[in-house]
Formats: sequence, C-alpha cells, structure tokens
Amino acid sequence: MAILPPPRDDSDQLELLHGVSGVLGASPDMDATMDAVLRAIMLVLPFDTASLFLVDHDGHLRICAALGYELDGRDPRVFPVGSGVVGWVVSNRTPALVLDSEHDGRFEAFDGRTPRSLLAVPLCVGERVLGSLCLVRRVPAPPFAEADTTLVATIANSAALALENARLHEQERALRLRLEELNQLYSQERRLVEQLERHDRVYSSVVSTVSHELRTPLMGIQGFARMIRDGDIEGEEVRDFASEIHDNAVRLSRYVCGILSEDAVERGNVNLELREVRLRPLADRVLRSFAPMTRGTHQLVNDVPADLPSVRGDADRLTQIAFNLVSNAVKYSPMGGQVRVWARPAEGGKVELGVDDEGIGIPVDSQSRVFERFYRVATPETRGITGAGVGLSIVKGLVDLHGGSIAFDSEQGRGSSFRVRLPQWVYFPPAADYGELPALSRLSR
Ligand code: ADP
Repeated sequence: MAILPPPRDDSDQLELLHGVSGVLGASPDMDATMDAVLRAIMLVLPFDTASLFLVDHDGHLRICAALGYELDGRDPRVFPVGSGVVGWVVSNRTPALVLDSEHDGRFEAFDGRTPRSLLAVPLCVGERVLGSLCLVRRVPAPPFAEADTTLVATIANSAALALENARLHEQERALRLRLEELNQLYSQERRLVEQLERHDRVYSSVVSTVSHELRTPLMGIQGFARMIRDGDIEGEEVRDFASEIHDNAVRLSRYVCGILSEDAVERGNVNLELREVRLRPLADRVLRSFAPMTRGTHQLVNDVPADLPSVRGDADRLTQIAFNLVSNAVKYSPMGGQVRVWARPAEGGKVELGVDDEGIGIPVDSQSRVFERFYRVATPETRGITGAGVGLSIVKGLVDLHGGSIAFDSEQGRGSSFRVRLPQWVYFPPAADYGELPALSRLSR
C-alpha cells in the first residue's frame, strides 16, 4: 500500500522543508527522532516504504526504523558498508536513484523481486556517515525522479543532524546515569571504609583498654601471690596481701561481668520484666551502696520527690542504669563534690531521672562517642581512673530496651549531668469480672 500525501507544488516545498526541520529538532530521543525523520519525508514525497539504516560499531548497516511495513526483532536487513543500494550510498557518500531495480546491479532484494524504484541518500554529519535512508516505490507507482533526490537529500541533512543530536543526548544521559551509579558505589565504598575505620578504632581501644584493665590486677595478683608463696612475708602481712589478691580478683571479675553484660545488651539477650518501679527508693538503694567508698569525699544527695509518678520498667535493669551513672559520677569526680540523683515528670508521659556531678566533665570533642562500646576518654584527668569503656554503652542499650532515651550536658572542669527518660507507669484496672454469662435465649415467636 503506497503512502501518498496529497500532491504539492514547488512553492509548498520550501515551507514544508522548514516545517520538517522543526519537527526533526524537537525530540532528544533516538527512537522518536527516527520516527520523526520517516514521517517528515512522508509529508513531502509519496512512497511505498521508507527504511532508515544506521552504521553499527562493526561497520554494518542495520535497519533501525521503517514506515510502510512491520519490523520485527529478527529482520535480516543487514548490509556491510558498500553492499546493496543502502551500503553503496554510505561508501560513496552520495545519493542513489534506482529507476528500475531489475536493471541495477547494486540492488539486493530481501522481500522478493517485485520491480521497484529506489531512492537512497546517505545521512552525513560533517565527515561522518551515520547511515542511510531508503525510499521504495513498487510498480505500478511511477519511479522516483531526479528532483526527488535533491528534496530527500536536503531532508537527510537535517535528519542526520537531529539523529546525531539525539545520539549525543542519549549518550550524555547514559553517562549521567553511569556517573550517578559510580557516585552511589563511591559513597557505598566510603561508608564501608568509614565502618572499617570505626571498627579499627574500636578494636585498638578495646585492645588497649582490655590489656590495661586486665594486666594491672593480674600483675597485682601475681606479685602478691609470689611473695606469699616464697615466704618473703609473714604474720599480719599475709592477711593484707591476701586481701589485695582478693580485691584484684574482684576488680577482674567486675570487669569481665561488665563486658559480658554489655555483650548481652548489645545482642538483645536481655529480657525485661516490666512492672511499676518507684524511683526514690531505687535511688536510695543505689546511693547507699556508694556511701562507704565516698565517705569524706562526696556528698550523695537523693533529690527524687517521694510523690513522683512511678515508671514502667525492669527494677533490676533500672537499678543497673542508675548504678552505672552514679558510679561514673563518683569515679569522674576524683576531687569529690556533690553527686545528686534527681527526677521529675516529663512531657509525653515520661519521667526524667538525672545524675549530676561536679567532676572533671567530658571534653566537647569526645561527647558524641561516650556511648560507643569500649570508648574511653583519654585525657590527663582520666589517667589512673579505671574502667572498661562499656558502662554508658550498657546504660544506653538498657534505656533503649525500655523505650526511653538518654542525653547529657557536660563541661570540662565543671561536671556532668546525665538524664534518662523512661515511660511513666500507667495503671490499667483489670477488666471487670462479670462471672459466667447466662446462655443466650430468644423469644419464641
Ligand atoms: P568507663 O567509665 O568504664 O570508662 P563508660 O562507658 O561508663 O566507661 O564511660 C565512657 C567514658 O565517658 C568514660 O571513659 C569517661 O571518660 C566518660 N564519662 C562517663 N561518665 C562521666 C562523667 N560523669 N564525668 C566525666 N566523664 C564521664
């Protein structure tokens, strides 16, 4: 079936050509541009079929778009450059007008030998040939004329430019996508490297903390035990040395318990028994356990109001939280001072429990890291203060398990104030006991 536009006279053609170049430049997409090229020709010249071939990377012309017949993915129309009429126009960079395919050696038929007339033009951009365009008229349609060649060649120039633009556009889009992919890969890699660096830092601080915290009491135990074994001491001194060994062993076991506890919290191996917990007596018990070791150095103050709403939590774990915070408050105020435990109702159905001290404080650049496992602040002020670097990590893990949050303010040389928010205890009365309900009965009708 011939695609025949209404016949136009020469004066129309300039206007048409102008319109055609407008249509061609419109789309940055390769497929849409090829489509536009074929439709543009349809506007100016009658034909049966039109085919657009592009030169691929191994120098073959492959059909990429067609009008007047269906293309399927397995279309055999592939010509080496130089072969067939479409290959000839590419290698000669000049249009070819075939009046009668029966009598032209350049013609290679794919769809039977129906006599036809062909008009093929190369698609050139500067020195480069992108491909060719081939129009066919089958007998009995009149063959193409010489004047048609000029017309189609003119359109082919604009078409080639539009195709080149679309190709560059697609290339740019593909490059942009690739760049985005690479950027993503790069950030993934950066994140991994940062993670590794973090692990490396943690590993180094674990090794240094563990070796220091284990070595000191172990050396004590070894030394005192050797002296007792070698009989270098006697009487009362033996008891003192045995007591030193005992203290060092307690320190070691506290250290190991701390690490195991941190590990359990970190792995989520902690089951909470949630119930109503009153904070004032809890704070009392914790502060009382520090009384012997702080006598004469620290003032321990319980500022938790007696009528404070209770919290919902696991009493043992809440004690552990308060114990760790008070222990740090005492430990990191080597010059003494007040250690105050306080609490108040907070917004959102929470209760805030705080521990304030007047100790050495935490340097600003370490503040973001104190909840990391095994992180310890290393300053001249902390030298000589022992710890495993897991206390706050345990506290944070337990607070999270309670659905709470933890924050602190600290100023070097002035002290620290840690605040834990915990859910308030809400009392739900048990459902009323109605006893056994009577069997349902219906009125008989
Ligand atoms: P540890 O006390 O065993 O080192 P923590 O996890 O309890 O480990 O604390 C981490 C670090 O935070 C401590 O090494 C210490 O430097 C700092 N820190 C914690 N609490 C306080 C505090 N109340 N005052 C000053 N520094 C503190």
